[in-house]
Amino acid sequence: MKLNASLLLAGVLSASLVCAENLTEKNVEKAQAIIAAAVEAHGGAERLESINTVVIEHETENVATGQSRKAAPPWDRNPAAGVDAIDLENDLFVTRNHGNGGGFEFNNATVINGEESYQLNYRAGTAAPIAEPDFNTTSGPFVRVTPALLVRQLSARAQTARYMDDVESDGRTYEVISFSMEVGPAISMYFDKETHQLYRSERILPNFGLVEYRFTDYKSVDGIPFNQKFELFLNGDENMVRRNLKTKVNASIDNLIKIDSRLERAAAITPDPLSRQKIDEGVYLIGGTGTYAMFVEMDDYIVAVGGTAGIPERIEQLREVVLDKPIKFGVVTHHHFDHVLGVPAYVAEGATVIASAAHEAVVRDAAEDSDALKLKTIDDRYVIEDKNRRVEIIDIGPTAHSEHLLVAWLPKEGILFQADHFALPANGTIPPAGSSTKTFAGALIEHGIDPLKILAAHSPRVGTMKELRTAIEKEVVTVGSK
Ligand SMILES: [Zn+2]
Repeated sequence: MKLNASLLLAGVLSASLVCAENLTEKNVEKAQAIIAAAVEAHGGAERLESINTVVIEHETENVATGQSRKAAPPWDRNPAAGVDAIDLENDLFVTRNHGNGGGFEFNNATVINGEESYQLNYRAGTAAPIAEPDFNTTSGPFVRVTPALLVRQLSARAQTARYMDDVESDGRTYEVISFSMEVGPAISMYFDKETHQLYRSERILPNFGLVEYRFTDYKSVDGIPFNQKFELFLNGDENMVRRNLKTKVNASIDNLIKIDSRLERAAAITPDPLSRQKIDEGVYLIGGTGTYAMFVEMDDYIVAVGGTAGIPERIEQLREVVLDKPIKFGVVTHHHFDHVLGVPAYVAEGATVIASAAHEAVVRDAAEDSDALKLKTIDDRYVIEDKNRRVEIIDIGPTAHSEHLLVAWLPKEGILFQADHFALPANGTIPPAGSSTKTFAGALIEHGIDPLKILAAHSPRVGTMKELRTAIEKEVVTVGSK
């Protein structure tokens, strides 16, 4: 009886499989139709294919959501302006930006041009060769904010596209499809069901969350619609508003690619894998690819300082030299999102997280398991001491970057760890200081801190007071750009 029933069931199932259209086939067909309509709406296949270069001049307002001097809204709004240029035929890309934010003034550019790829700092007057230039990764952000290029890429990579759903939003109906670019997570693209133009796109970025892009004010350039306004939202919060002032198609980008000969050649920018530096007996700076933490060995435990990305891997590196001492404290320097990523790792280690009282809410938010969070908030200063070592955690704020900022000071060894106020390039020339660095230097004097070694959350290079002075005294040269 039982056998018969399952045979019967198998018969029904296979019959229904044969009758139903295959899900993937149906979905791909629908996606292809949406892509075809989108290509038409964005100027047609021929025009899109004929794009060799695109140059866009923009004015941008960056909203420092969670990255402002204060830990709560209203957020700082920071102005910037610049130009992006791409040459699709020759894999050339340039992005130039100047402005300020977070106590940093900047005027720089990245040029991707094969062997002639450079990171330019116009304030410092330097050109640093990029050892391993990557056209797709570097130009990706520009392609993602330029619908014509995005639709062209979608069409070229249509085999990765899938139809997701129809969605009603802000009084429009969108057909949503998803596809994968050369690098990075998949993108969902929202095409207006009537005009077939791209109005929104979305990606989920690890460590960031939901990134939403909105394109409006389309205007035709050489028969191709280009958006004049672009907005970026991060986890639902306004993050950037950009006005595209000038868009040119197939103009020469030679003058943008050219490296101004007055720029001083600086040391090459090379990949920076995870590594461990011994700074002093029992003091380690561990990190790579732009994020570093300090670990200080006490008699019976470890004090970890800094909460940037990759704390678990940095702890693994520590365990190669310090096998069994528990991490008792994890110090979070300030409330910016890239400096609280380490909170869950410290919670998992059973450590007490030390943070400024003003940053309590942000740190609690950052803990994945808030019940397990042991938090020690400090208003001014907290001293960790045993027979052999003294570690002072001091709030040296306010600075141009943050109202409150914890640094770790080892008076006996003359070692200071700080985040976001003084980071030297991995090697080569010291760039002129911005407001953030200047206010940091003032705070050191005010607190009577005179370090021999200055460690940074974003650089593997150990700085000195002499180098800090050099940065402050250095004139801003602003070569070759506005
Ligand atoms: Zn910061």
